[in-house]
Amino acid sequence: MGLFRSIRRNRILREGLLPADTWTWLVQDHPILDGLSESELENLRALSTLFLHEKTFEGADGLELTDSMREVISVQACLPILQLGLEKYEDWKTLVIVPDVFIEEHTEFDKAGVAHEWDEDNSGESWDTGPVVLSWKDVEASGRGDGYNVIIHEAAHRLDLLDGEVNGRPALHPGMDPREWREVFSKAFQDLRKRAGRKKRGLRIDDYAVQDDAEFFAVTSEYFFEQPDVLHGEYPDVYRLLGAYYRQDPLSRAKVG
Ligand SMILES: [Zn+2]
Repeated sequence: MGLFRSIRRNRILREGLLPADTWTWLVQDHPILDGLSESELENLRALSTLFLHEKTFEGADGLELTDSMREVISVQACLPILQLGLEKYEDWKTLVIVPDVFIEEHTEFDKAGVAHEWDEDNSGESWDTGPVVLSWKDVEASGRGDGYNVIIHEAAHRLDLLDGEVNGRPALHPGMDPREWREVFSKAFQDLRKRAGRKKRGLRIDDYAVQDDAEFFAVTSEYFFEQPDVLHGEYPDVYRLLGAYYRQDPLSRAKVG
């Protein structure tokens, strides 16, 4: 990190740290933060403060953004990078928040050159290095410990993109084996896809994960932080590798909390 940035960040943390009452409210309002140690919470508070200061938040489609909306988003965006550092979000400059699920129009041309259009519901979306678009309605449903988290989902896509491709295989840390990652994730993906196709499904993981490898990584990341017991119960090796990647063990926190 450059000297000037480091000085600026120190000043922000000295003068603009999220106030104690705001911070207490944020932690209490987000069960997924239960069980974090004092030092982890302090670290998360600093990261969230810097995220708030350094990223641009824009309300769209008539949404009026408030400070607490920005704070709720920042704290959850920083949970996945708690042990990785804010540098991982270097290319992520802007967040656009819309009131509700937005409809995206797709056009695709088939081999005969005929255009096919369809609409797809989106609650969050990353456009490569562009802004992350989030629906406030889905943000409000996130962080409750029920497996769903649109912010962590989009953050996972951002992390996945760091090696240039959103393919469910983020750049791994030294000592992690990319071949093992590929094998474990592809085995779990195939299994979930097979089960999602059955009539009596009993799935505990959202079948949106079987869209492709990138969505599988993003959705399992949501469960990793939101319902670690479910992910660990279904796919323990996926849980273990996500733990090595995020350098966190939310399951142990859940037991404490
Ligand atoms: Zn996605």
